[in-house]
Amino acid sequence: MRTKIIKTIEELRQKLSKVKGNVGFIPTMGYLHEGHLSLVKTAKKESDFVVVSIFVNPSQFSPSEDLEDYPRDLGRDLQLLSDLRVDLIFFPREKEMYPTGYKTWVTVDKITQVLCGKSRPNHFRGVTTIVTKLMNLIDPDKMFMGEKDFQQLVVLRQMAKDLNFKTKIIGCPIIRESDGLAMSSRNKYLSEDNRKNALALHKSLLMAKKLFNNNITSTSEIIAKMTELIEDLNGTIDYIEVVDSATLEHLDNLKKGCRILLAIYIGNTRLIDNMEI
Ligand code: AMP
Repeated sequence: MRTKIIKTIEELRQKLSKVKGNVGFIPTMGYLHEGHLSLVKTAKKESDFVVVSIFVNPSQFSPSEDLEDYPRDLGRDLQLLSDLRVDLIFFPREKEMYPTGYKTWVTVDKITQVLCGKSRPNHFRGVTTIVTKLMNLIDPDKMFMGEKDFQQLVVLRQMAKDLNFKTKIIGCPIIRESDGLAMSSRNKYLSEDNRKNALALHKSLLMAKKLFNNNITSTSEIIAKMTELIEDLNGTIDYIEVVDSATLEHLDNLKKGCRILLAIYIGNTRLIDNMEI
């Protein structure tokens, strides 16, 4: 059976009204890679009916960001999702999600102002709004999200709890290239040299873990060492932070179970990564 592609809300509602059993949902912006596909594979195991959305959500990009250039390859995405026997792909146009006169926004306080929220002020408002709309439309039993975007995962968990969504949010591990670079649609922007320098993210996280295992726990000491490694590979630091995994609160000292998150510019490309300690 070929995967059904649906572009309108009306058709989506019609189709979903006939579905029986557990619905699993994976929201994406397309240009799929093994990271996205790992979420689909987990969803297939845990659900009777799997929906994937592909929507490059304009409201989560600031005017200076890469909305226009964001990589797209619908034909390839459809093939990959068909091969995995996804049941339904929702691929709405911008006007379908944000018709003329659109005015409603969903915001989560505090945890959207730190980390990526500092340099991308409206980003999470765009994410929480589009995910709320998609969750309302699809009403999934489970939603599968990558730990690659760890802050996004924490924010959406908070939102789902606060707004009483029945959907269970399942966090899935980061999928990496064989050399450790976290898979991302934005890796496509990297030149050959930048691709090598992009290893700074994973290498610095591994180094931090090693330092912690050697009983160095001071956040400032560890960040100083990570900074050195990253700058040696020509990376420009947006932030490196050590936080509590549940609350995203800053920690002065690393402890087991905390997270290190970072955003680094490699050339003009902003990459994020994180690791549990
Ligand atoms: P995106 O298309 O970038 O909006 O990502 C859609 C979903 O895929 C999000 O839940 C991401 O966290 C997840 N994702 C992206 N890259 C990876 C990765 N390398 N490993 C695991 N999940 C990922």
